[in-house]
Formats: sequence, structure tokens, C-alpha cells
Amino acid sequence: MANKKSNSSEWKSTACILCTLNCGVKVQLNVEGTEIVRTKGDDDHPASRGYLCNKASRLNYYQNREDRLLSPMKRNAEGGYDPIDWDTAIEEIASRLGGIRDEHGGDKIFYYGGGGQGNHLPGAYAGSTLASLGVQYRSNALAQEKTGEFWVANRMAGGYNHADFEHAEVVMFVGKNPWQSHGFHRARAELREMAKDPDRTLIVLDPKRTQTADLADIHLPVKVGRDAWILAGMVAVIIQENLQDDTWLAEHTTGIDAVVEVFKNVDIEDCAEKSGIDEVIIRSTARTIAKAKSVAVFEDLGTQMNRHSTLVSYLQRLTWMLNGNFAKPGAAYTPNGLGKIGDGREAGKSPVAGGRIIAGIVPANTIPDEVLADHPDHYRGMIIESANPVHSLPDSPKWRQAMRALECSVVIDIAMTETARQADYVLPATTQFEKAEATFFNFEFPENYFHMRAPLFTPPEGVLDEAEIHARIAQALGTLPEDIIYTLNNALAQGGRDAFRELVFAKLSENPDIGKVAPVLLYRTLGKTLPKGMQNAAALWAPCHQHAMTNRKSVEAAGITGDGLMLGDNLFDAIIAGPSAVVISKEEWSDVWQRVPRESINLDLPDMLEAAGKLNSEAPQETTEEFPFLLSAGERRDFTANTIFRNPAWRRKDANGAMYINPDDAARLNLGDGSSARITSEGGVVDTIVEVNDRMQRGHISIPNGLGLDYPDEQGQLKVTGSSPNELTSSYLADEFVGTPWHKSVPVRVEAIG
Ligand code: SF4
Repeated sequence: MANKKSNSSEWKSTACILCTLNCGVKVQLNVEGTEIVRTKGDDDHPASRGYLCNKASRLNYYQNREDRLLSPMKRNAEGGYDPIDWDTAIEEIASRLGGIRDEHGGDKIFYYGGGGQGNHLPGAYAGSTLASLGVQYRSNALAQEKTGEFWVANRMAGGYNHADFEHAEVVMFVGKNPWQSHGFHRARAELREMAKDPDRTLIVLDPKRTQTADLADIHLPVKVGRDAWILAGMVAVIIQENLQDDTWLAEHTTGIDAVVEVFKNVDIEDCAEKSGIDEVIIRSTARTIAKAKSVAVFEDLGTQMNRHSTLVSYLQRLTWMLNGNFAKPGAAYTPNGLGKIGDGREAGKSPVAGGRIIAGIVPANTIPDEVLADHPDHYRGMIIESANPVHSLPDSPKWRQAMRALECSVVIDIAMTETARQADYVLPATTQFEKAEATFFNFEFPENYFHMRAPLFTPPEGVLDEAEIHARIAQALGTLPEDIIYTLNNALAQGGRDAFRELVFAKLSENPDIGKVAPVLLYRTLGKTLPKGMQNAAALWAPCHQHAMTNRKSVEAAGITGDGLMLGDNLFDAIIAGPSAVVISKEEWSDVWQRVPRESINLDLPDMLEAAGKLNSEAPQETTEEFPFLLSAGERRDFTANTIFRNPAWRRKDANGAMYINPDDAARLNLGDGSSARITSEGGVVDTIVEVNDRMQRGHISIPNGLGLDYPDEQGQLKVTGSSPNELTSSYLADEFVGTPWHKSVPVRVEAIG
């Protein structure tokens, strides 16, 4: 891989693309300009401020790889793939998907993905293809993680909440180990700060004694999948001991009476028994939260991919909302970003399984069923972009079957993934470092940021930006308005950006339908006028105008000025010119209330209260003789990063992604470090290497995410490393409200193998 002796001395700005934070990174390339050879934190990045975790130093394993796709591929009759030229690929895809649209309707074509971490612009450009085909149903990874939280947050406070962990007196992590999964900037540095400050309290609710739990003042090792009981117990303590802030609740909320009505009757002793946490500790922890000046809570996949996940999102919110921990320093807020990620509005049901559509995305679990069903509305075509659902969604065997049942499937990606290997067409895209690219996961406050990264590398022959791919598909489908492109390009050439802006808004008011293909229109017009390599950034122009129009005060406070519509252009230009992240809004804490409907938080969610009220009469999940363990499938570790790295050499340790098991369980099963074990669930079987780990509870095992991928070995033969978690998961084990899967409590058995 990288030759550290021959690097260029120039430090270029970019970002790490391995988690939602996209920390600012400075890199040095080799003298040929083909490899990243040195990496350091970007001190000028206003959010990450020079911070990096261990993973960023491995970015070259993403960029330089043996499995890179360099030509469009088409499945042949033998099940293999033949390279084809771009014109043929686009023409055939447009014809076959257009045929499904014309014969059965565009709603029979499904779209999955739209961008990995830090690769969000393809999702914007895909909008043009979806509009051209009349696609109505889509999904992405958020549908197996966050939709329950989005839905609850929207109904309570009008949108997704993040929190000011840096300044909170009490911080609680629910099913989250930020040491590994981060979730807020400078996570490890902030955790150390919290741990050593005697005036702050760090609470961790997690069955495992994680690295974050090591730093905690209070670790609550709840039984696997029973978080709802401990949180319901805490809310009940606050209500029954009258610890809530009645004045704040009267001024800022509605629905407290309904909450009191349910929680005055919750049996705290029963919650303690079922959750496995002593009642005295539940009471003292609830009092600590209730009496704190500020509380910040972060829930994550440990509960969001577990039983009662949506209910847990509601209960954890009650623990801090009952004492006014919103819209003040050290508490929760609704961010003011460029994208609408986290908008948890409910919008209908999926056509076959009837799954609740939240934030525009259908539950991920039932997608294969919606393909395979003998139903007039089943999906017949699919486009999958920058995603690997055959590997990353539940029930990989059923996904493979569904992919083969589609009348036409198209994968857009940089490598031949497990999903690509089931598709009819595979279109090779540029990497995140070969084009202008960005993340819309911008959740900071009171200053929020946006980072448009310039490309580091020239793309190889044969690949295209997703923007170009979608522009060509729209063109082939006849939906790209060539006359308008010509007029807009003329306006740019003769009158510059002012003339362009006026014309775009005039055309949009004449014919709002143009807006549906706006991303590729902007790419083919404005994009060509942007600095070299930045054409792909053009789609950001529209969100910049939208943000400027609705948030003039906060944009101006961020230092961007401009009369009328000029403000949107100036914001766009500032982002394009910024070598690092740029401040796009600056607000006061009181401004947060502008994003809360009627400036009042709604506490009364009848379905959640009903579910909470039934907890005392509900029996928690127990293991069985056949499946005596509960598996956390997809644990975040030092060397896991979804499937973005396929070369196993990127891992400095835990090369095979070992199964962690408690020492007592290991001894009983005759397992030791490095021995082999077989994990069996009702969905499938995987073999794994064992690591005995005293951080695990008895009866609880874990395997990491991002393993079970193949990669060419030195002889060019594909070799699989580690176990793929979704060979074990079942799609029907999912949340009753939004269908998020229960990956963190999969019933399994474990056996030693030779
Ligand atoms: S926290 Fe680590 S993995 Fe996440 S973006 Fe920063 S350096 Fe990358």
C-alpha cells in the first residue's frame, strides 16, 4: 500500500468518511498523487478541531483497492458478468426500468441507499432518476436504525434532537458506546473530560461493560433487550416522587396529565426485577437526572436495534423532558442544517407489507418480502446506490433470492459488493475522494457547519460521478429538458450567476415540475462553472437557497451576507470556497423553539403511553433450551467500519472479527481464545473465531459489523474474512411500530467446532 518515504509535502483538506461525524482531516499524498500516505486532524475544522480517532489513518484502504470496478458490468446467462460500454448500459437500463414504469407503474421500482457516510450528494442526484421513473418507495440504512427515534422526536418536538454533551451536567448513553461509535464530535476527548470532572455525572445503560462504561460514574448493566423496563422505572420514579419541573412543563409542554396518569401506576419494583437493575439504583439514578441543571441523552443502535426500540426512544425522552432539558446549554436541541435528515413525519404505508413509512423511507426489513410477494403491487425493479443491503440488512439469504426475482436490478457502487453480485447491471462510480462530496449529517449548535470536500484524486478511466450517471439516465428517459439547459447555460455565459438565478426561479414558477430534475439540471449548468473538480457540488445550490430563505437571521449571524436571493448564492459560494467546514448558521438557544410546532413539546403519545402502561404485565424475552444465548449482531469496535473497507488488511487487530463470549460460558462450552465456534440461529449458521471477554454478561455474545466480506487474496482468489451478521438475522424480528430490526438480541446457540 502506501509508500511513506515518497510523499508530497502539501497537506490537503478533506474529511474522514468512516462515521457520521466526518472529522476534518489533512492528508499528504505520495508524489504520484495516487495514495494517501499521511493523515492528521484538521485544526481548522470548526467542529472536530484537530481530533481524529484511530480509524482515519486507514483511509487509503478505501481509495486504493484490488476490487475496484472500472467498467459497467452486465450479468450474463451463466450468472457471471461481462463488461459493457456506458452508452449501452444506460440505454438498456433506461429501457428496462422505463418498461416496468410504463407497464406496471413507477411505484413498482424501488430505490435503496443514496449515499454512505460522507457520500450524500448521490442521494440528491438520484432524485432526478426517481422522478423520471415515477419511483415512490425508497429506503436506506436509517430505516433499520433511526426511524423509531425520528418518528417519536417529530411527534414530540417537531424534529430530531441532538444534545450539547460538551456542557451537560449529566450525560446518559442508552445502548451506545461512543468510545467506538462516536456520535458527537471529539467523543473520546469529551468522554475523558466528563469522567474526570467531579461535578458531572456520566451514566451508561448497556448490558456490556464497554470502554465508555469504564469511564462512567454509573453503569447500568441492564439485561439484554430490557431497556424499556429500566427507563419506564426511571420515569415512574420522577413522577411518583414528584420530581418533575411543573412550572417548565406548564409553560413549554402539553400532555403531562396523560403521562402522570400512566406512570403513577407503574410498578418500579417489577421494572427493577425485569431489567436486572436494583430498584435502589434505578431510584437514585432517576433522582440524579431529575435534579441536574442540564441533562444530555444519546440513544443508539444498542436499543434502536432491539426490543421496544420505539418505546425506548419515547421513554428516554421523558427522563429529560420532564425537567426542562431542552433549548438551553447542556441540553437537547433541534439542529438547523441544510438537509432534512431526521424529519420523522409519517407518510403512508409500504404497498405490500403495510410498513409505516417514516421520513420518506419504508422499513428495511420487509423489502425482500415486498419483492417476492405474489401481490399486484410487488416491487419489480430496483436501483441500489452506495449501499450493500444483501450484506447489511436482515436475512441475507432472502435478499439474494429477492434480487434474482427482480425484473431489472441496478447497483451503483465502486466495488463488486455482495449486492452487486446479485444485480443485472453494475455501474462503477467515483470514490468519495475523486469528486466534490459532502455529508448532510450536520447536527451542531449554536453554530452549525457544512463541509464540501474538494477531490483529492483524478478518477480512473471507466468510472463516472453519480451525478453524471443520473443525468445520463434522465437524458435516456427523455426527462432532461435540453432546451432549459441550453437557456440556462446561455444565461450563465452572458449574465453570470445573477441572470442564472433569476432565470431558474422564473422557470420554476412557470413549471414547478422542473424542480424534480433540478439536481441534474444544476449539475449540467451551474456545475460547469464551478472550480475544477467541483461540478458535483452543484446540487447544493438549491438547499443553500432554501436555508437562506428560511433562516436569514442565523445565516447572517454566521457571517454570510447578501440582499434578497443573493444570500443563498453567497452561502453556496462560501461553502464551495471553504477548504474546511464553513459555519452556515449561528443561533441563540431561544431560537430552537422556532422549530418546535406551536413552540410547545407534546408529551402525550397515546400509542407509546399504552405500550408503557403494559410493561408490568408483559413478560420479557427469555432464552430457550434451543437458543440459550442472545447475540448482538454488528458490534462497533476499533476496526469495524460498515462495509466501506473490504480489504481485511486495514485491521490492525481482531483480524477475523471474533465472537466475544463471557468466560463462564466459554468454559462451559469448552471454548478458548482463538478457538472456533459455530453460531446457529433460526435464520442461519456462521462459523467464527472466539475471544473470551469478561465485559460480556453470561448468555450474551457479540460479533462485529462489517465482517464476512470477500476480497481478492495474493493469487487473486476471493477470500471471505469473518462472519456476516445477517446470515443469522430474521426479518420478522422487528419493532411493532416502525419495523426496525432486533439485531442486538438474536436468539442463538453456540457450539465448539474443530
Ligand atoms: S470519529 Fe473517527 S471514524 Fe468518525 S469521522 Fe472522526 S476520525 Fe473518522
